[in-house]
Amino acid sequence: MTAVNTKPAFLTKEQAQEIAKTYPTPFYVYDEKGIRENAEAVKKAFSWNKGFREYFAVKATPNPYLINILREYGAGTDCSSMTELMLSKAMDIKGEEIMFSSNDTPAEEYAYAAKIGAIINLDDITHIDFCEQAVGGKLPETMSCRFNPGGIFQMSNGIMDNPGDSKYGMTREQIAEAFRILMEKGVKHLGIHAFLASNTVTNEYYPQLAGQLFELAVELKKETGADIAFINLSGGVGIPYRPDQVKNDIAVIGEGVRKQYEKILVPAGMDNVAIYTEMGRFMMGPYGALVTKAVHEKHTYKEYIGTDACAVNLMRPAMYGAYHHITVLGKENEPATETYDVTGSLCENNDKFAIDRKLPKIEMGDYLFIHDAGAHGYSMGYNYNGKLKCAEILLQEDGSAKLIRRAETPRDYFATFDGLDIYDKLMKA
Ligand SMILES: *Cc1c(COP(=O)(O)O)cnc(C)c1O
Repeated sequence: MTAVNTKPAFLTKEQAQEIAKTYPTPFYVYDEKGIRENAEAVKKAFSWNKGFREYFAVKATPNPYLINILREYGAGTDCSSMTELMLSKAMDIKGEEIMFSSNDTPAEEYAYAAKIGAIINLDDITHIDFCEQAVGGKLPETMSCRFNPGGIFQMSNGIMDNPGDSKYGMTREQIAEAFRILMEKGVKHLGIHAFLASNTVTNEYYPQLAGQLFELAVELKKETGADIAFINLSGGVGIPYRPDQVKNDIAVIGEGVRKQYEKILVPAGMDNVAIYTEMGRFMMGPYGALVTKAVHEKHTYKEYIGTDACAVNLMRPAMYGAYHHITVLGKENEPATETYDVTGSLCENNDKFAIDRKLPKIEMGDYLFIHDAGAHGYSMGYNYNGKLKCAEILLQEDGSAKLIRRAETPRDYFATFDGLDIYDKLMKA
C-alpha cells in the first residue's frame, strides 16, 4: 500500500466540474493567486539590487493575460523569435523591458528587435557583423553577449549540466574579443548572459553562476575597459516535479547572489551593475495544470487509463520522459492501490502522461489534474494526428474562471490551406 497524495492540487473536483460545463476537458488552468505570490517573492528576493529585472521567458507560457500579471511585479519579457517579439510589442512593453536572447537568429528578427528597442543578446561572435548589417549599419548603444565556459557545470549536490556540449554562447576568448569589437563599433553599455544548467532544484545554482559571471565581469572590464551594465543569470531555476523534492527558496537564492555581488563586484568598484533574470519555469510551472478526463480503461498486459488529452496538450512526458505528478480530483485522500499507465490518444506509444503510476482507483469521468504544466506545457504543443490545442483558463483570485485562450477548432487547423476552404465546404455538405 502506498501513501496518499502528498502534492496538493490548486483546483477542487467541484471547480473542475463547474469549469467543464462551459469549457470541456482537456483544458489548462492557471492559479492567479500562486502566480502573484511567487512573483512578489521573486521581486523581494532581488530588491537589494537597484536595477533588478526579471525578463519572463515568453516561450514558457506565451499568454498575454498571464504575462500582464507578471508585469505588475516589474517583469519584462525574454524573447527568442519574431512572434515573441511581436507579442511583447503588441502588449506595449517598452524597448529595454524586452530582452532578445535568441540563437541561430534570422536577420529580420535582429532588424525587428532593434526597431522596437529590445536589448539584443548575441549568441556568437560572428553575429556581430551579421546583426550590424541586419539593423542597417548602426548597432544599438546597449548590447549583451552570451557566455559559454565549456566543460561541465557541477554543484555540490551533484546536479550538473554540460555547457561544453551545448550550442549556445561564446568562449572566454571570444567574449573578450566581442566586447572589444562592439565597443569599436560604438556600443556603450554591455551585458553578460549565461544559461549553464536547466531545471536546477537547489538554491545553489544562481549564486554559483553569479560568482562565475561576476568574476568574468571584473576580468572583462580590466581587459577591455567595457562598461558592464548588467549581468543576466537567465533561466534554469527549477521546480520540484516530484513530490519528494524540496522546492527552491527564492529568498535564499537572492541572498546567495547578493553575497557574491558584495564579495566580487563591490570591491572592484562595480556596485551599479544590474542583475537580470530570465526565468520561465520558476515563474509559471507550478501554477498551471492540465485537466483531463478519464474516458477509457483497458486491461491487457498492463492496466491503462485513457484520457481525453494527449501529448499535443503536454509533450514533456513523451519528449523527455519527464515526471508530472497526477492527482485524481476528489480522491486526494484515497490510497494509491492501483498501478496505471495513463495515456493519450496519439498513434505513438510514448503518448503516456505516466507509466506504472500508483494512483487511487480511477472511474470513467474522473478528472485528472496533471501538475506543474504551467511552463513549457501548452507552449510546446503541436498538431500531430490533427489533434487540436486546448483552452487556457485563469482561476482568478476570487475563485472564478476566466477564459484566456480559446481551444483550437477544425477551422483553425484547416485555415492555412489558402483557397481550399475545406472547413466551409464540409459545413455546407
Ligand atoms: C528557455 C530559456 C529561458 C527560460 O528557462 P527556464 O528553465 O524556463 O527558466 C531563459 N532564457 C533563455 C535564453 C532560454 O532559452
